[in-house]
Amino acid sequence: MWNIVIGFLFSFIIAFAGYKKESLSLSGAISAVILGTSLYYFGGVFFSAILVAFFISSSMLTKYKKGFKKTLEDINEKGGKRDYAQVIANGLLGFIFAFIFYITKNHVFILAYATAFAAANADTWASELGVLSRANPISIITFKKIERGMSGGVSLLGIIASVLGAGFIGVILSMGYVLQYGISMSCLKLFILCSICGFIGSLVDSLIGSTIQAKYVCTVCGKYTEKKLHHGSNTTHMSGIRFINNDVVNFTSGFISTIIAIAFYLFI
Ligand SMILES: [Zn+2]
Repeated sequence: MWNIVIGFLFSFIIAFAGYKKESLSLSGAISAVILGTSLYYFGGVFFSAILVAFFISSSMLTKYKKGFKKTLEDINEKGGKRDYAQVIANGLLGFIFAFIFYITKNHVFILAYATAFAAANADTWASELGVLSRANPISIITFKKIERGMSGGVSLLGIIASVLGAGFIGVILSMGYVLQYGISMSCLKLFILCSICGFIGSLVDSLIGSTIQAKYVCTVCGKYTEKKLHHGSNTTHMSGIRFINNDVVNFTSGFISTIIAIAFYLFI
């Protein structure tokens, strides 16, 4: 019972701060409290630390050079405020694996849990820092230059940010693991697998983003966008599958990265 109260209080404080700083919309803040409370209940301080590391670092990077990014919000489907769909897209896998770990106590699910956030973190760091790259990104499929802020584009800066984003969660994971279970070779294994698979997740994200994610063209200004509305009028569907938006892409790439992490953990 106390675990729920403590988890709720901490989640509430962090989500409220996120709401005040406009990192979360109201629906995003409410879902974040639910997510945070359940993760604390299933995985304690250790699991919560990973969620907090993801949330705070991503929110800070979103705020970084905000003025410049504002011009790109026209293109990208989501702006700086995270709504409930984004919280679910990034947090549902974590919720599922935290629950399975709570039931089974099998350490492979600690890795799966952390990898879900490592992939989300790698993707967020890559998109928040990658758009600041001076050169236009290239498509991960055709290697041709594409518009900044569009999903599926990669740049050197974005790739470095992605490796660091996944590695950051890997560090928190291994540190937490040492504190919880003592020092062992497993800490190193977890760090490596979480970082690599998180990074793979962000590549898969770009791959799906540039192929089957829905893209639109604005009937007013003629720009390509991921938004269904631009300049107040409906955009025209151009390519990709209509229901595959940014959140679906994030969830799918997170899922693929955790499956790879579990396979590596069990078979290496
Ligand atoms: Zn437009």
